[in-house]
Amino acid sequence: MKYISTRGDKSPKRFCDILLEGLAPDGGLYLPEHYPKVDDATLARWRTVYHQQGYAELAFEVLSLYIDDIPATDLRALCAKTYTAEVFGTGEIVPLRHLENNIWLEALSNGPTLAFKDMAMQLLGNLFEYELARRGESLNILGATSGDTGSAAEYAMRGKKGVRVFMTSPAGRMSPFQQAQMFSLMDDNIYNIAVDGVFDDCQDMVKAVSNDLDFKRKYKIGTVNSINWARLLAQVVYYFAGYFQATQHNTEKVSFTVPSGNFGNICAGHVARMMGLPVARLIVATNENDVLDEFFKTGVYRVRGSADTHETSSPSMDISKASNFERFVFDLLGRDAPLTKSYFGDALARVGHFDLSTHPMFSQASTKYGFSSGKSTHADRLATIKDSWERHGMMIDTHTADAVKVAREHLRDGVPMIVLETALPIKFAATIVEATGKEPDRPAKFVDIEALPKRVISMAADTQAIKTFIADRCA
Ligand SMILES: *Cc1c(COP(=O)(O)O)cnc(C)c1O
Repeated sequence: MKYISTRGDKSPKRFCDILLEGLAPDGGLYLPEHYPKVDDATLARWRTVYHQQGYAELAFEVLSLYIDDIPATDLRALCAKTYTAEVFGTGEIVPLRHLENNIWLEALSNGPTLAFKDMAMQLLGNLFEYELARRGESLNILGATSGDTGSAAEYAMRGKKGVRVFMTSPAGRMSPFQQAQMFSLMDDNIYNIAVDGVFDDCQDMVKAVSNDLDFKRKYKIGTVNSINWARLLAQVVYYFAGYFQATQHNTEKVSFTVPSGNFGNICAGHVARMMGLPVARLIVATNENDVLDEFFKTGVYRVRGSADTHETSSPSMDISKASNFERFVFDLLGRDAPLTKSYFGDALARVGHFDLSTHPMFSQASTKYGFSSGKSTHADRLATIKDSWERHGMMIDTHTADAVKVAREHLRDGVPMIVLETALPIKFAATIVEATGKEPDRPAKFVDIEALPKRVISMAADTQAIKTFIADRCA
């Protein structure tokens, strides 16, 4: 399998070439040059694989179609090491539970940080360690986080040979639970840096360091952001696992509703559908930051400025632009790279929006690719959390609630609707209490984590300070 860029660079790359990279050199995102098709016989076999051999083996089957530069025995071992009941809490890894009518919740949030990013990041940690060892190299991951991404990265990379993590976060701005989760890690290769500033200050520091190409090369600076193809690929697997749990036969179809921010999660659903998974609709659920809902309703993609980016009670979806969206638009435009470049490379940079409403391909987003969308607000979120709790005794987190609200609006007779549960309610306890008056349950391993000793360095919002810090640690 070869990988190409959405902006036209066709120099053939293989999986491990792009594993440790972010954007393609032309500024585009990597995609496989085609989506392998899963025929009926394979789909039937995978159903048995998942039910009898488990999620890790299913992951191996899916990944093998896209990765041909890691020997099969090694890839199988990496999957087996990643997707264990010990790390993800159950043998199913992504168990399905019934909510109401034909709506089901697929739990993606039982990993180490209680959010769906673990599903991909845990695999990424093992892939990085494997590939770096094979090359005899090391990597310093530098990131900025306001919560979920940073902790998922740290829990994935902790103790991994050849990898250090330098994670900046705005001092005092994460929830006490999130701070405890990250700062209680005592691993030598994890550095938490609390920056005196806001999230944008952290991100500016990271960008400034990455733009210093000499420094970047000398200190082998990398990232683990959501545009990494390996992360997306890992997420494709749970669309298959959800389907196999919700159906008996491969003649049945299901729909998915996905709480979306950067379009990474649902883009994996698009890939699964392109491979032939029988998916009727892929429904994008946004919060008040409705860049994506606006696009699917109108054909206009308009990125927001920071003044128009709302701070909401489903904060992991508070985005101003959807960084993975370019992948879908590339497919929608019939893989026309120059046109994709003219929209994402030129129009967005120049005027901050582009308009596909009159483009003949736009209607195919719904007709050919199965997309629909909807939006949820703070009031909807509270009402949905309260209702799920009072009528069904099920507590759901704020992001999942956004998706349940939108799923209810799109339910069709006879088609199971799978809502992806992307976090556990304990991570957003304040809003859950606001909605239900009740404190959410805390998994046993997180009882009293706020009281654990913390390992965190304070730093001014100063690029030179972080460079010096990194250089000292790498001496
Ligand atoms: C990151 C995240 C999302 C959004 O996922 P995208 O891939 O960015 O669309 C939704 N919910 C939670 C809890 C998250 O952490």
